Amino acid sequence: MKTQNTDKDTYISTDKIDRKWIDVNIPCSAACPIMTDIPGYIQAIMESDYKTAYRINRMDNVLPGVLGRVCSRPCEPVCRHGGDGLGDPVSICFLKRSAADFGMEPVKLEIKSNGKKVCIIGAGPAGLTAANDLALKGYGVTILEQFDQPGGMLRYGIPQFRLPYDVVASDVKSITNLGVTIKTNVRIQNDKDIEKLKKEFEAVIVAGGCMLPKKINISGIESKGVFLGLDFMIASNREEFDKPMEKVVVIGGGYTAVDCTRMSYRLGAKKITLAYRRTKDDMYIGEHELEVTEAEGIDLMFLISPVCIVAKDGLVAGVKLIHNSISDDRSITPIAGSEFVLEADAVIFAIGQSAEGNIIGTGGVQEDNFFVTGDFRNGSSTVIEAAADGRKVAREVHKFLFNIKGFQDIVHIGEVKDTGRKRDYDFIPVQPMDTTYMRYRRIKNKEVEIGYSKEKSVIEAQRCYLCHYNFQIDIKRCIYCLACIDVMPVDCIMMAKDIQITEDGDLHYVETKNWDEVEAITIDNDKCIRCGNCVRACPVDCISISKYKLEVVEKK
Ligand SMILES: Cc1cc2nc3c(=O)[nH]c(=O)nc-3n(C[C@H](O)[C@H](O)[C@H](O)COP(=O)(O)OP(=O)(O)OC[C@H]3O[C@@H](n4cnc5c(N)ncnc54)[C@H](O)[C@@H]3O)c2cc1C
Ligand code: SF4
Ligand code: SF4
Ligand code: SF4
Repeated sequence: MKTQNTDKDTYISTDKIDRKWIDVNIPCSAACPIMTDIPGYIQAIMESDYKTAYRINRMDNVLPGVLGRVCSRPCEPVCRHGGDGLGDPVSICFLKRSAADFGMEPVKLEIKSNGKKVCIIGAGPAGLTAANDLALKGYGVTILEQFDQPGGMLRYGIPQFRLPYDVVASDVKSITNLGVTIKTNVRIQNDKDIEKLKKEFEAVIVAGGCMLPKKINISGIESKGVFLGLDFMIASNREEFDKPMEKVVVIGGGYTAVDCTRMSYRLGAKKITLAYRRTKDDMYIGEHELEVTEAEGIDLMFLISPVCIVAKDGLVAGVKLIHNSISDDRSITPIAGSEFVLEADAVIFAIGQSAEGNIIGTGGVQEDNFFVTGDFRNGSSTVIEAAADGRKVAREVHKFLFNIKGFQDIVHIGEVKDTGRKRDYDFIPVQPMDTTYMRYRRIKNKEVEIGYSKEKSVIEAQRCYLCHYNFQIDIKRCIYCLACIDVMPVDCIMMAKDIQITEDGDLHYVETKNWDEVEAITIDNDKCIRCGNCVRACPVDCISISKYKLEVVEKK
């Protein structure tokens, strides 16, 4: 038995069965690359405790204000509330924003120095998260950033109408408050610069992102009026793009492409088309992002590839495109004879970005005190994936410099009497996000999503099933009275036969209605909506509720 009792009500478990319970029963947290305690912060919002909700996010994912706006939300499609017949997933991301909007507070911590210094190149989400985690461990951290403000793509890629500068600045400030120094306007040119830093610091981490926009070699590509997506976004965000545009065609299907269309709209373009070579479902972008884009009048065209730029006197006049067919293995084939021309005075290619190789001679392989992280290590990804990788590299550095054994997952299990959830909450519809009126959408830096009010946040939070609570029946004490089954609001408790527990802790059983076969009364936590009816009805008090929370700690 790998559990130990630490105080009256709480256990710390290193048992893989408890760890697995989290993955199986809290699907939202399991899908989050940084394993945010989602039901933990949603329950705090349910109780109007925004400070606790903020603190949970700040500990887990470091950038709550940012991620509450632009996270790619891998947690939401797997939310149990989105299951068949149960309605829509909980708005996990909007609630994260509420935690930051209403609960943000300065982190006040006394951190003892461990005497070692680490240099990080790049102040994007990966570099900032690594800096945060290393500072918390007592490292003196210096970030070197080539731009004049920290944030990486949060500041220079993602536009202000989705992520205002002050939100990025507040999240960054909570990291510099830990003693992290950020030196801006410092560019590391090559591996000689890195060699120098490796002597000055105990470890060097490159978190330089994917700053090189990919190019395509088609005729007319050098014409005036052709832009690369990332360059276009950086110039627009720095207020350096001043070319008037009427008709814009954006080629691509990711965040950068969609932001280019919406930025063009704000820069005054009258007709904007997004052309993507695959289908809508293949786009690497949230569904709601596309809805807003379409609402802004942007035409979306799928299964379309560029053939060549149509130019007159060196200036873009249009782009020749071709329809594609797509096969089951997702490969695309141009359909001969289906070419057509769209008129345009600007064509923007947003077909991906790659990492700059010149600052590491070794091609990205970790060697002695040199590390890489984020999009620089893994290729273009998302904010939360970059943050998760920043956390990973901080652990790699700490393991290397202190020669520790590594890290391990532990599970805190606390007994509670009530979850606070009610059956009525199941009938609350998903709360929509209010957005800026269409007549203000051309204002370049005006944030489109307004954020939930406190009242709406609590209502949305009540929808969450609080999947971190494990309801269990102690079969030794159960008297088979079926009082729990009488009061169950959904098909969550049953008479079970053929009960088996595998070595991995998986519970298998078959439901039976035949009294002669019953081996136990069992709760299906996958169906349980945490209403507590069964606990209140049980005459012998044999149903327990325990709360699960994951933590990663150094291996002893
Ligand atoms: C337009 C756009 C929109 C996006 N929208 C979303 C979104 O809505 N949701 C989402 O999840 N993801 C989005 N992404 C992706 C996301 O922003 C990135 O995956 C994430 O920022 C990567 O983090 P990072 O820290 O690895 O790199 P970056 O954020 O790219 O940061 C790298 C930093 O390193 C600095 N740097 C690079 N080289 C040097 C050098 N030699 N010397 C000094 N400094 C250097 C750069 O200036 C930069 O500040 C978007 C990306 C773009 C371009
Ligand atoms: S109902 Fe709540 S805890 Fe359960 S998966 Fe959805 S957000 Fe997560
Ligand atoms: S708390 Fe009990 S009665 Fe309520 S849904 Fe869960 S198992 Fe069913
Ligand atoms: S109410 Fe309690 S004692 Fe009765 S069947 Fe349910 S768990 Fe067993």
